[in-house]
Amino acid sequence: MASNPLTDLELDRPGMDAAGWRRSLSNHLVYSIGKDPLTATQRDWFYTAAAAVRERLIERWMETMRSYYRADTKRVYYLSMEFLMGRTLMNSVLNMGCEPAFRTAVENLGLDLAAIREIEHDAALGNGGLGRLAACFLDSMATLGLPGYGYGIRYEYGMFTQKIENGCQVEHPDNWLRYGNPWEFPRPEVLYQVKFHGRVVEYADAEGRLRHHWVDTDDVMAMAYDTPIPGYATETVNNMRLWAAKATRDFDLGYFNEGNYIKAVEEKNESENLSKVLYPDDTTEMGRELRLKQQYFFVSASLQDILFRYAKHHEGFDALPDKVAIQLNDTHPAIAIAELMRILVDGHGLDWDHAWDITRRVFSYTNHTLMPEALETWPVPLFERVLPRHLQIIYEINHRFLREVTHRHPGDHALLRRVSLIEESSPKRVRMAHLAMVGCHKVNGVAAIHTELMRQTIFADFHRLWPDKIVNVTNGITPRRWLNQANPDLARLICARIGNGWLKDLEQLKRLEPLAEDAAFRQAFGAVKQANKRRLAEAIAQRLGIAVNPDSLFDVQVKRIHEYKRQLLNLLHVITLYNRIRAHPSGDHLARTVIFGGKAAPGYRMAKQIIRLINDVADVVNHDPLVADRLKVVFIPNYDVSTAQDIIPAAELSEQISTAGTEASGTGNMKLALNGALTIGTLDGANIEIRNEVGAENIFIFGLDTEGVTALRAAGHDPWWHYRENAELRQVLDMIRDGFFSPEEPARHRVIFDALTTGGDPFLLLADYADYVARQQEVERVYRNRDEWLRRAVLNVARMGRFSADRSIREYAEVIWNVKPVRPRRRPRR
Ligand SMILES: *Cc1c(COP(=O)(O)O)cnc(C)c1O
Repeated sequence: MASNPLTDLELDRPGMDAAGWRRSLSNHLVYSIGKDPLTATQRDWFYTAAAAVRERLIERWMETMRSYYRADTKRVYYLSMEFLMGRTLMNSVLNMGCEPAFRTAVENLGLDLAAIREIEHDAALGNGGLGRLAACFLDSMATLGLPGYGYGIRYEYGMFTQKIENGCQVEHPDNWLRYGNPWEFPRPEVLYQVKFHGRVVEYADAEGRLRHHWVDTDDVMAMAYDTPIPGYATETVNNMRLWAAKATRDFDLGYFNEGNYIKAVEEKNESENLSKVLYPDDTTEMGRELRLKQQYFFVSASLQDILFRYAKHHEGFDALPDKVAIQLNDTHPAIAIAELMRILVDGHGLDWDHAWDITRRVFSYTNHTLMPEALETWPVPLFERVLPRHLQIIYEINHRFLREVTHRHPGDHALLRRVSLIEESSPKRVRMAHLAMVGCHKVNGVAAIHTELMRQTIFADFHRLWPDKIVNVTNGITPRRWLNQANPDLARLICARIGNGWLKDLEQLKRLEPLAEDAAFRQAFGAVKQANKRRLAEAIAQRLGIAVNPDSLFDVQVKRIHEYKRQLLNLLHVITLYNRIRAHPSGDHLARTVIFGGKAAPGYRMAKQIIRLINDVADVVNHDPLVADRLKVVFIPNYDVSTAQDIIPAAELSEQISTAGTEASGTGNMKLALNGALTIGTLDGANIEIRNEVGAENIFIFGLDTEGVTALRAAGHDPWWHYRENAELRQVLDMIRDGFFSPEEPARHRVIFDALTTGGDPFLLLADYADYVARQQEVERVYRNRDEWLRRAVLNVARMGRFSADRSIREYAEVIWNVKPVRPRRRPRR
């Protein structure tokens, strides 16, 4: 791949030119990695490159931290159970602005940069969109010079690796630390005690006030690991601090002295299990004790750390809301609200009302889902066992909150039941979203429609109580990773025409608009896409042994496998195309390659069934000589950030086809459009705002909108009616039912047929099928006009500026956090 000639901002610095890099690489190979160039492997060179890169970040990282300290600035703490970072090497090199020099140095050493960067393990401490959002936000906070810290868990095992065996998903552990993580700095001295279990003792203090002690606890230590987060073309390097669980002591001395060495070590392992593994569950919550403990573990350590940093500068807590903003990424860290109350009231003796005022001004919460089954609740008995004092505090918060509601709405008992932090089920459950709603000064949705639905549905009662609390901040993505890094050829083409200002100000892409009418530019733009398609086709041939036609329409649906995302609807269309080719083999069928990628939660049976059906359909279609290269179906295994970076630049059609009202925002939709794919999608999540930006004539919208969905559900959706009335659909469904794609086991996919028919088709695939197929036909009509397709693709790219994560972060900073950028001093020359 050609070099990326963007920014050379740092070239005036010693060590940042090609000669400096080369010296540094040679030195690090020997003195950091301890290898002789004669025997060095690609892996040795990757770790060498990482050492050279990280060395160049450290001074700026330290200076950034010093500048925050000097300015006594308000800091933002982004608390997230997940950070889906992907690979770091080239991202750091590009953000430092010295990719050409680095590349030259590597090549002059006779090394293969493409091979070296592939060695890096994809850091996947997250499931999907939510974790990737956190990663994009860290990049944007650093790029904007905002004092933003990521806080999370250093899982020993990240998101599982997906393999496909006999068409089925098989999960393998993601042992990402096996060869060591070159980006992290262990901080064995940054260690906090985290308590669990035990009981609460009441006592009267010197002034006779009732106080609480949490005693007889089981304790675990949290140890910090820091990772530098470089902004793009800036001195700012922020910090992500992840916590690992360590036993309070290495051994239980009691057992040790008894001579029971093994038992003594076992106890140590048990407590260290807390940060062992990421829960590979997307959107549906799991009621597992270990997960609750993970949440409290990282929240407790993070709050201790945040308050320690605050206390270096400040007496008392009155200034806390002026110095600290804590963003809760979903309800996973919402226990922080009760924890801060506990620290202030039990630990420091603040009055409840005073502590509550401070707490509310510190916290804000991002909601990511409206689906009731995904809203986190914890059984009260479990909560009481694990966090007895926090349960008491939540009861007290609830008591005072419900009293306030009663004053405002006397006699409305139904309202009290609806808004209570405690669900009156059996057993009772703690509603974490309600805790977050009550304990935060701002709560945001992640796309305009999602925020509006929050106000109208799940949080309608709260919205009436506090009409200013729920705000919208539409998600965004970082253009550094998702365009500059993932699609260097397109980045270069854009820079050649409008300069590189868009990398920090994505709205500047608007200046490409006139070029949509420029035939030469369209040609160049089309050539970039074609080269990306060819590269992906080669990778597919190599990895999966499927020959795809690089001139076919690359139709891409990559995201977690979930019924609401409707990969099955896409597949119904694929089978429809297949049947049309079979019915008219000599017809003029547009060649199409349908690419799927995505993981299913290991316990989500239907999602796994869908993966199997995709692979079964692929097997039949790809081997049918009648089809030839006019239709290919490809399931690319192990969709992660790195595979996303390979697939997205080659996509031409972006499938964003969730049932209206189910996808909070989506960010995959933004990545694909920014890389010049046209979207076929429903009026759901950020698709609506993408339509508003790119223009309705440059996007393929189909299907029911949220009102249509609500109305249909109210009237009663009858899948059998569609089955009877639509012959093409019926044929497709019958093939699935009768085992056309699994002749060796004809009943294999019967459950899918049943879900779509007798099961009531809860995600309304059959209701949207006809319109979807019609829209796909329009897609083909436009695609046959290459110039028109390219014109629309250029306009899509030109109009995606709004979906930069920089814009999202500016909105958070202004509307929710009230924080301002701090510019570190330029590093003195050595
Ligand atoms: C962006 C991204 C997602 C989110 O995709 P959606 O289409 O918004 O669901 C999931 N996984 C990975 C690896 C991503 O990069």
